[in-house]
Amino acid sequence: MSISKNLNNIKSELPAHVTLVAVSKTKPVADLMEAYDAGQRIFGENKIQEMTDKWEVMPKDIEWHMIGHVQTNKVKYMAPYVSLIHGVDSLKLLQEINKQAAKNNRVIDCLLQVYIAEEESKFGLDKQELDEILKQVQNDKENYKNIRIVGLMGMATFTENQNQIEKEFKHLKTIFDKFTIHNSQFTILSMGMSGDYQLAISCGSTMVRIGSSIFGSR
Ligand SMILES: *Cc1c(COP(=O)(O)O)cnc(C)c1O
Repeated sequence: MSISKNLNNIKSELPAHVTLVAVSKTKPVADLMEAYDAGQRIFGENKIQEMTDKWEVMPKDIEWHMIGHVQTNKVKYMAPYVSLIHGVDSLKLLQEINKQAAKNNRVIDCLLQVYIAEEESKFGLDKQELDEILKQVQNDKENYKNIRIVGLMGMATFTENQNQIEKEFKHLKTIFDKFTIHNSQFTILSMGMSGDYQLAISCGSTMVRIGSSIFGSR
């Protein structure tokens, strides 16, 4: 199957309210261009250096999403152009994004990454940490003028057990709904990858991050 065919197949089954992020990490620019020529304009990468290299040579109407773990000292490289940072998991990182966004006269959209999986994972916030970060930003708006928290991101456990994945997605959706009530900026729920995006959508995802089903295995 070609990249454009894969892309069109996936797009044809996505509901209109769900945004597709084409996850192109490790893939060469030629592959991304095939997706671009088939109409794709949102790409997700998990390394800032690799994303920046691609940004430099590719058309400028592309939205670049950082979906990986972000090291604070590298935020400056993507601050001039990044559209959405999915994996924000600390106040310190949020402060650095705000600082670098300000230097570039930009407002950068961010998602807070929530820890929903049962397996061991280093990244993501628990419910209490999430509450604290949102409260801090809410109470200190003056110092966060250059970021916008627009929703949440989560990754389910890597397992064949559909019941478990569903439970984790529903849990994230419940948290998302709670915050949406108080915050009209909260519109994006990023959950679902190649193996579980249909399930994620049925649980309320508004943004899916799909790599191997478009570009082939890595
Ligand atoms: C790699 C990656 C994806 C895409 O995974 P596929 O299984 O190839 O679709 C989605 N989200 C994150 C955070 C990733 O690192």
